[in-house]
Amino acid sequence: MNPTEEIKVLDYGLVRLVDFMGGDDAVVQAARVSFGKGVTSDERDKKLLFFLMANRHESPFEHSVFKFHIKCPIFVARQWFRHRIASYNEISGRYTEMKEEFHLPEALRSQKARNYKFSEIEADLNDRLKEKMSRHYENSYNLYHELLEQGVAKEHARIVLPLSLYTQFYWTINARALMNFLSLRMEEHAQYEIRVYADVINDIFKEKMPWTEEAFMKFVVHGEKWTEE
Ligand SMILES: Cc1cc2nc3c(=O)[nH]c(=O)nc-3n(C[C@H](O)[C@H](O)[C@H](O)COP(=O)(O)OP(=O)(O)OC[C@H]3O[C@@H](n4cnc5c(N)ncnc54)[C@H](O)[C@@H]3O)c2cc1C
Repeated sequence: MNPTEEIKVLDYGLVRLVDFMGGDDAVVQAARVSFGKGVTSDERDKKLLFFLMANRHESPFEHSVFKFHIKCPIFVARQWFRHRIASYNEISGRYTEMKEEFHLPEALRSQKARNYKFSEIEADLNDRLKEKMSRHYENSYNLYHELLEQGVAKEHARIVLPLSLYTQFYWTINARALMNFLSLRMEEHAQYEIRVYADVINDIFKEKMPWTEEAFMKFVVHGEKWTEE
């Protein structure tokens, strides 16, 4: 993966890997430091890494670190920022004029969900409601601009903007905390709009740390038990 490649998510969103340090080897190295050894053979290294994951020896995974550039709607960022074991720097609505970029869902979901399996609102109603939402976004943005033009500070003018507005942030997180994020946000109970970001991030994680992602899927996501072969 080219670290600067932008992956589009939702209507205006993106995920971009800005920087990465570590990898599967770094996990093995960290685990073996107590014996004064680094990496050995591929087969033994992979087995050790799988053992660590299966038995929740998670600190060696902290030595690999991902730095992402994320652009997502504010309501997604609010869920995202609950993941405290990470570093965040977000664009400032006090110093920057916000762009007219709002998330409009393709299909509105019905509130009548069973086991988080939502159905879609009937097509005609969906179109009418989306039209109203678009107008609401436009009106909000026009009011925002009017307030700015009247000399109101950005930090006050922005409070008329809806949660669907896009924000941007840098997100630096180690592989252990990243797996916690992925296990919670790729899961079916997580809201669709954050799940699509988690899926993209998991693809990047898999590319950078293929053994770790394989072990994560096996032991954490699918709950398999460690067996000595
Ligand atoms: C489907 C879903 C629904 C949710 N609904 C709600 C909701 O309705 N309301 C709501 O408020 N939140 C909700 N959350 C957020 C959730 O409670 C967590 O805040 C969020 O998922 C971050 O998880 P985390 O604390 O494991 O991550 P991080 O903050 O990144 O923490 C990683 C790990 O570090 C440890 N840790 C971090 N801080 C502490 C601490 N202070 N004390 C002890 N251990 C710590 C824990 O082991 C934790 O798992 C929801 C999350 C999901 C996935």
